[in-house]
Amino acid sequence: MHEKNAHHNLLLSWAEFVGVGWALLGVIRMYIESVILPAMSQSSCTKRFYIYRGDLEHRSAPGNKYHKLKHHMNAAIKQRYQAVATFGGPHSNHVDAFVNKVVELGLLPIVVVRGEVHAQLTPTLQSAASNGAILFPSQRLDYRKGLASDVRNTVDQFYDDVYWVPEGGGGGLGVLGCKDWADTIMSRVTDTDMICVASGTGTTAEGFAACEKVHHLAVFSALKGADQIVVRPIKPHLQTLLEFDECYHGGFGKMSDELLAFLKKMYELNPNLQLDPIYTGKMLYQVDQFVRQGCWEYGNTLFIHSGGLQGWRGMPAYYYPYHE
Ligand SMILES: *Cc1c(COP(=O)(O)O)cnc(C)c1O
Repeated sequence: MHEKNAHHNLLLSWAEFVGVGWALLGVIRMYIESVILPAMSQSSCTKRFYIYRGDLEHRSAPGNKYHKLKHHMNAAIKQRYQAVATFGGPHSNHVDAFVNKVVELGLLPIVVVRGEVHAQLTPTLQSAASNGAILFPSQRLDYRKGLASDVRNTVDQFYDDVYWVPEGGGGGLGVLGCKDWADTIMSRVTDTDMICVASGTGTTAEGFAACEKVHHLAVFSALKGADQIVVRPIKPHLQTLLEFDECYHGGFGKMSDELLAFLKKMYELNPNLQLDPIYTGKMLYQVDQFVRQGCWEYGNTLFIHSGGLQGWRGMPAYYYPYHE
């Protein structure tokens, strides 16, 4: 039996439970909580799971998004740009966080949207537009060229001074911000046998892999296919690097009945924790499968909650698992 919300074998002492870091806008609290996976009720499971609640950081850019944008935003301000542009899909967590942050800094957000911008905007694009973002549609083929795309040229012709953030807030500055994040989290953590991060562009995973205190890292890609290997080159401090692709639910952005059932069960077991449908939900699902199959050999596992809850707005209502 597992008691709800019991904190066994805490990775950090109670005194450290609320690690305090000061940010310009206030206090950032660090939360690590224990998580109960459905598979743990099955047999005599001795594994322990914890989650770093990145979703509770930075209301306007939760999870990894603030960290990926941080150095880009500093660069844009320092170099006195008036407008900041990026690329993203119509439901993108990155776009949501990007627009919020750029507006907070008093700059103009420009978003190149993958595919046409439909008359009926997605909820993510609706909030972007009502926050004052300029949306540029793009054809998928051109979109893929990223900073070398025609649509980028078009934007640069319309606006004089545009700072470009690569898709998903990636690039060297994105990795650096994620490394800072990993350094902060890992300075508070002892006794973990495996750190688990969800991955899209791989920027966050690369940042974690670059943190010297991370010795064992498992990366769960939200994309299907074996070519999603992300972390290169492998650093000497990294003793274990596991990489998994999205092999259960049909690929990026796809929901399945199994995933929905899992998320509902997770919510029953962990009523204070919500997961997102694209990244963290699928990561925990996969680890739950490994535990069921008896092939998760790590004693203390720490999941990084990378946020993304706004992504639920892009899902049909019948997939929403968090009704009372
Ligand atoms: C964007 C996002 C990711 C992927 O981050 P990358 O740095 O692109 O790999 C993971 N989890 C969540 C919740 C996200 O929103």
